[in-house]
Amino acid sequence: MEKNVFQKIIDKEIPATIEYEDDRVIAIRDIAPSAPVHVLIIPKKYITSAHGITVDDADLIGHVYLVAQQLATTLGIDQSGYRVVTNVNADGGQTVFHLHFHLLGGEPLGRMNAARVASGKHGGRGILREAGLIVLFAIGLAAFYNAMSPKHLEWIKPTYTAVPVNDDAIDKLIATAPTPTPTPTPPAATTTTAATTPDRPQRTVDSPKTSTATPPPPAEQAGAARSLTLAQFKKLMGKPNVVLIDARLQEKYDQGHIGNAMNIYGSEVEQHIPELLAIPQDKIVIIYCDGGHCELSHRVADVFLRFGYPNVFVFLGGWAEWSAQK
Ligand code: AMP
Repeated sequence: MEKNVFQKIIDKEIPATIEYEDDRVIAIRDIAPSAPVHVLIIPKKYITSAHGITVDDADLIGHVYLVAQQLATTLGIDQSGYRVVTNVNADGGQTVFHLHFHLLGGEPLGRMNAARVASGKHGGRGILREAGLIVLFAIGLAAFYNAMSPKHLEWIKPTYTAVPVNDDAIDKLIATAPTPTPTPTPPAATTTTAATTPDRPQRTVDSPKTSTATPPPPAEQAGAARSLTLAQFKKLMGKPNVVLIDARLQEKYDQGHIGNAMNIYGSEVEQHIPELLAIPQDKIVIIYCDGGHCELSHRVADVFLRFGYPNVFVFLGGWAEWSAQK
């Protein structure tokens, strides 16, 4: 059976920002935080969900809550307040089937599920009206702020921008690319761990930045994907150190794709993080989708950038430009 993502983190096969660890639990920062503080406390013992807890686990679960308390203090949310929750199965919103507890805080979290309770059997119309008013007020406030802001956002979809790269930078990258290793291994999680005791959470930080590749030239914007023209893309295509990713839906990929591109659908990229992190950091990663300012490519690029990959490019012309020139 394939290990779940949390088991891989426990086994240090993929990196994570570790806030606390002992022999029974590990606590990591959530990769897609829902609040300013969002830590996952994960028992090392494999239990599918809170519904799989037995009386033998009573001590372990008690320990989880003590760790939550200590983390809340360490992270400075013990006085302002916080929430500890665990999701069970589909209706509970569980996506990773290895028991974990979300520790959330750092801002007012609001009442638990007011809107849902109101719409179900237990609530009254008053609560529903109140939730509706809050939503309308928030939308109005956001619209007002957006309209007033000089850097206002596009409606509905975020606008991604990629920074163009000059030809010299591409040539330099090709010239200095390290010789490919025949058997790539996932980036090792180098953990600097201070002595940990169950009583005192210690902050340990995994560093996924194990790259020996040439960093991007200083003129280019750090943390943003760089865009490739067709000519630049062709220069890099076929180089042994290049990994090509097609971010479109599988049906489109199956109808035709560029070279040996792997298919990671941009809208579901969070589900493929272990797969992406298995790509060594010294690779030149190029992502494309249909063409134009395709959001799917940027979503995939964002994951690599978040994990410190230095050479991440989006081929903006994508499949449309590539297939048209043949
Ligand atoms: P749940 O939906 O309750 O199963 O929660 C799963 C949580 O795990 C979500 O909040 C995800 O954002 C988070 N998550 C998934 N993969 C990772 C990862 N590689 N590192 C940190 N958090 C993750």
